[in-house]
Amino acid sequence: MMKVKQLSNYINGEWIKYNGELANVINPATGEVITEVPLSTSDTVSEAVNAAKEAQKSWAQVPAPVRGELLYKVGQIMAERKEHLSELLTLENGKVLEEARGEVQEGIDMAFYMAGEGRRLFGQTTPAELQNKFAMSVRSPIGVVGLITPWNFPIAIASWKSFPAIISGNAVVWKPATETPIMAYELARIFEEAGLPKGVLNVVFGRGSDVGSAMVEHPDIKVISFTGSTETGRHIATECGRNLKKVSLEMGGKNAVIVMDDADIELAVEGILWSAFGTSGQRCTACSRVIVHEDVKEKLEKRLIEEMATLTIGNGLKSGIKVGPIINQAAMNKIANYIEIGKEEGAKLAVGGKVLTGENYQAGFYFEPTLFTNARIDMRIAQEEIFGPVVSLIPVKSFEEAITTNNQVMYGLSSAIFTKDVNKVFAAQRDLDTGIVYVNAGTTGAEIHLPFGGTKGTGNGHRDSGVQALDVFTEWKAIYVDYSSKLQRAQIDID
Ligand code: NAP
Repeated sequence: MMKVKQLSNYINGEWIKYNGELANVINPATGEVITEVPLSTSDTVSEAVNAAKEAQKSWAQVPAPVRGELLYKVGQIMAERKEHLSELLTLENGKVLEEARGEVQEGIDMAFYMAGEGRRLFGQTTPAELQNKFAMSVRSPIGVVGLITPWNFPIAIASWKSFPAIISGNAVVWKPATETPIMAYELARIFEEAGLPKGVLNVVFGRGSDVGSAMVEHPDIKVISFTGSTETGRHIATECGRNLKKVSLEMGGKNAVIVMDDADIELAVEGILWSAFGTSGQRCTACSRVIVHEDVKEKLEKRLIEEMATLTIGNGLKSGIKVGPIINQAAMNKIANYIEIGKEEGAKLAVGGKVLTGENYQAGFYFEPTLFTNARIDMRIAQEEIFGPVVSLIPVKSFEEAITTNNQVMYGLSSAIFTKDVNKVFAAQRDLDTGIVYVNAGTTGAEIHLPFGGTKGTGNGHRDSGVQALDVFTEWKAIYVDYSSKLQRAQIDID
């Protein structure tokens, strides 16, 4: 399926064969090598930045509606190739094909949405405080922006970032995750085919510690937009702070579904299964805690255990599979370690907890969907991001305790509540301290025209997607036009 033996960096509109060190890209479903990716160095980053810097000058002069037409073409090509892209996405990332299609669709939606922004990019006009004076604010591009993206949504997150950056008149240097470079290769090819001027998008493959660090340190990259772990984000933010560089961070989560005593339990079970075990729990918004009212705890537990037994695990390209593989061995080790931690902490391992091996699983990385019951909020399994198919059930006595328990973690990405009580719905959406709140649905399912991101340890106040993404990639410029033909001093010469 993958026809390219070795991926190349994309710099200044050219595919540049890399002659240095390469890394294997592994299909996590089978353990097979599917391609090789360059492990570039800081020199390659400099070449990409130089190309981007040059290209950005003329790209910023292209009228935004014309930039929008190009993004529209990108969306059209993505739509034509949806099935092909989805299969490649499953191949490199492992998520089941149905979910891969959803992710590619998210990219298509974002392309069309941001194409429309080419005719908006709204600023404000506002009265000036003096006579014969006009005041307005406009968005300006920032210059060269650096995108650093993770492996778990290799095309959706790239779309959330690159499309708003490009519609705003910036040029991009993008470092995709080393595990999932194929989506980056495909997206860059689509931009090329759509006619993006050379140098406006550059892709540099390589490790975060080399290519990523070089981007963060490069003086001509004016913004870093990062999605990944809180640990890496904290490091990047520190470096950006030192260099007074704007930085947008979307990081980890420890998302909870609250199930109240009046909830539709069957609906809650469906919502929990989908948000906890979809993408094998490797979504930043994955449900990893279920906070359940004690009056419905037994019922919910029983139904969850029954339904978990029906989850089919395997290669996501095969039909009927509900849960695909884990991304790599390091992630498997981390998940297995948390199973031991949970047991030692005294939570009850009700379902799963084991690595899956055998003929069905080839040399892929598979972990059983796992449920801990009788967990407490002070346990590490209820506090730390495991990033796998592991859920901890935490019983509570009241609505108030449910909200407090949800908020008692360092992260603030997504939360959900199942209840039929309208008063609780409105109190919950006010009091849950996450950037995303769902009512009567699981913790996943964001739509691209709303802001995506989180509070506390999940983010630093910026948002991906939605019109809010434009704030990351533009500077506000305030413009005053005085047509009084005399010097008018603000705050002083007021009639
Ligand atoms: P990660 O290890 O932090 O890596 C993310 C990206 O940063 C990769 O491209 C990585 O490169 C790069 N990187 C690593 N070290 C770096 C450094 N010192 N300087 C610059 N770049 C560096 O995270 P991950 O394991 O790929 O992704 C999973 C995490 O992402 C989870 O915590 C998840 O919650 C989070 N996530 C958050 C959101 C959100 O919107 N909040 C969405 C999706 C995922 P290499 O891996 O190629 O070396």
